[in-house]
Amino acid sequence: MLSPPGLDMVSPGAGCVSWKKEACVLRSNRNIVIFGAGILGLWQALLFARSGHQVRVIEKSRRPFSDAASQYAGAMIAPFCEAESAEAVVRELGFEAAAIWRQLVPGLIENGSLVVAGARDQNELKRFARLTEGHETIGAASIAELEPDLADRFHAALYFEHEAHMITPTTMQAILQLAMDAGASFDFGEDASVSSVARAKLNADIIVDCRGLGAREELPDLRGVRGERILVRTRELNLSRPVRLLHPRYPFYAVPWDNGRVLIGATLIESEDTTPMTVRSALELLGMAYALHPAFGEAEILEMSAGVRPSFSDNIPRVIVRDNGRHLFVNGAYRHGFLLAPMLARVTHDFVAGTVQTHPLLLKQ
Ligand SMILES: Cc1cc2nc3c(=O)[nH]c(=O)nc-3n(C[C@H](O)[C@H](O)[C@H](O)COP(=O)(O)OP(=O)(O)OC[C@H]3O[C@@H](n4cnc5c(N)ncnc54)[C@H](O)[C@@H]3O)c2cc1C
Repeated sequence: MLSPPGLDMVSPGAGCVSWKKEACVLRSNRNIVIFGAGILGLWQALLFARSGHQVRVIEKSRRPFSDAASQYAGAMIAPFCEAESAEAVVRELGFEAAAIWRQLVPGLIENGSLVVAGARDQNELKRFARLTEGHETIGAASIAELEPDLADRFHAALYFEHEAHMITPTTMQAILQLAMDAGASFDFGEDASVSSVARAKLNADIIVDCRGLGAREELPDLRGVRGERILVRTRELNLSRPVRLLHPRYPFYAVPWDNGRVLIGATLIESEDTTPMTVRSALELLGMAYALHPAFGEAEILEMSAGVRPSFSDNIPRVIVRDNGRHLFVNGAYRHGFLLAPMLARVTHDFVAGTVQTHPLLLKQ
């Protein structure tokens, strides 16, 4: 179970019995065009299509996800851990979002997460514990029980039982398929940066713009925050859940995927540079991985890559409403695109249904 008791009920929105049911029809069925098929656009498509709207998604890249920041994500659903550096609203809405994830998308791995620190960095562990909730402090024996391969490597850890993660590409593909099954159509290889005349020809009742950094010209407050990560395969190490190793300078986590693959991430750099990972970042991340467990020294490096997180100045995502509700921007997900995508989709959906007029994530301009 991911969210604390009382937070796992999901409202299906006005007029619907449940998003789980086939195409429940709202009072008015709209023609909705979504720009961008990253994690935010996919979730918008899924909820609108499940509610019986006509949904068309226009995505610039020919191959699904190849230009999306989302493909690089660690895809941890970690509202408690994120509270270390995120605003309270991210944690609170993260619980609700986690419940929607669990209800609608298969493949969520609900094994919690673990936070550890080296002997010299125990103050980091205390600081992390102070800034977060939803954890239990455990000793060496419990660490060994949860993660046998980490036995005897750490004396203490924080165990966040109610967190989850997923295998990023598998989950994105699954949401794409679910949205198509619900009736959404996807046009890959089409550019939505078109004139207002051309947009008018789309014949959309509502445009939901989820282009990430591609929408920058229309969202001047948007900036990019670079994140680099490494995908490795190890046959000697078996982790069951994301493990964060705290360090005063380097953010670090290892997220287990399938077939021995582990995602190692991620840098957090105020830069929109999309060029490949630097040697410095690779050394930092791989050094941290080796400190977590020397078996990483024998791992194969499968991929080193860099993505840029679309972010607003306060690092809180928003649904921005323009043109009397005919043009919505959903953007600025920063480090929380996977965590909050279902919540952003629900806010947009309920706004269009007329059941929500104010919400912490809704901004009317
Ligand atoms: C290394 C790294 C690790 C991360 N880890 C996590 C994590 O553990 N948990 C979490 O919640 N978040 C995480 N994030 C953050 C998350 O990935 C982002 O918040 C999220 O990807 C933003 O999604 P998006 O859909 O807004 O943007 P994108 O994924 O960039 O999608 C935008 C889409 O719009 C398309 N597009 C752009 N311009 C046009 C156009 N003119 N016409 C049509 N289409 C267009 C693009 O091709 C793209 O497919 C991480 C990010 C990085 C980089």
